[in-house]
Amino acid sequence: MLSVDLPQSNSSPQLSSTNRILVVEDEELIRQMLVLSLEEEGYEVVTAPDGRTALSLLQEAEGNDKIFPFNLIVLDLMLPQLNGLDLCRLLRYQGNLVPILILSAKASETDRVLGLEVGADDYLTKPFSMREFIARCRALLRRQRFSSLPQTPVLQLRDINLYPQECRVTVRGEEVNLSPKEFKLLELFMGYPRRVWSREQLIDQVWGPDFLGDTKTVDVHIRWLREKLEKDPSQPEYLITVRGFGYRFG
Ligand code: CA
Repeated sequence: MLSVDLPQSNSSPQLSSTNRILVVEDEELIRQMLVLSLEEEGYEVVTAPDGRTALSLLQEAEGNDKIFPFNLIVLDLMLPQLNGLDLCRLLRYQGNLVPILILSAKASETDRVLGLEVGADDYLTKPFSMREFIARCRALLRRQRFSSLPQTPVLQLRDINLYPQECRVTVRGEEVNLSPKEFKLLELFMGYPRRVWSREQLIDQVWGPDFLGDTKTVDVHIRWLREKLEKDPSQPEYLITVRGFGYRFG
């Protein structure tokens, strides 16, 4: 049985994240609980009760630019029609690199190793807590997000240049000193110009899911960044507050 350990809900409004997750699980009760927890985190969730349905949903998303691709697959192993290991193997064979989190009642070492060998990224043994499940999902999404950031030597927006590999930033041609957290925040903003980020999403991306402080930390760092980047920090042109949601860049 799953232990019911739902993550704390956030009090401020949740943005619908662009992350789409496919949950492949044949046991309805478990499937519903997974969906509930993921939706509470603001993710968009699509479900499949068996391997074949999952495969056709994935192929549909691949071949259609009107449907966003999935950012993560949560995959049970014991499934009707096409089992989880075979589905995983097939996707990797087809060159699909979407992160896969395997859920399984099988706890033996060989199953775990086999799951990872066929190309899964992580493995969670039932029963598990919802808190741990969400933390694993976040970690996989975060890894993917950062690895998909453009590998350009410089991110440039108006008169700000950020050199990811050199951890260096210039504003209007002048070098500015940023703390590691300020740098990560700015890198994230510049990697996704005009995207609105909630404070919770920024905490997640920059501080990590284990961060225990509150979201005011984000506001404090934004203020510091504004002082270093903006011509007039009280009239920001780069780090814009989006009331009721969070922040965006530019
Ligand atoms: Ca099953």
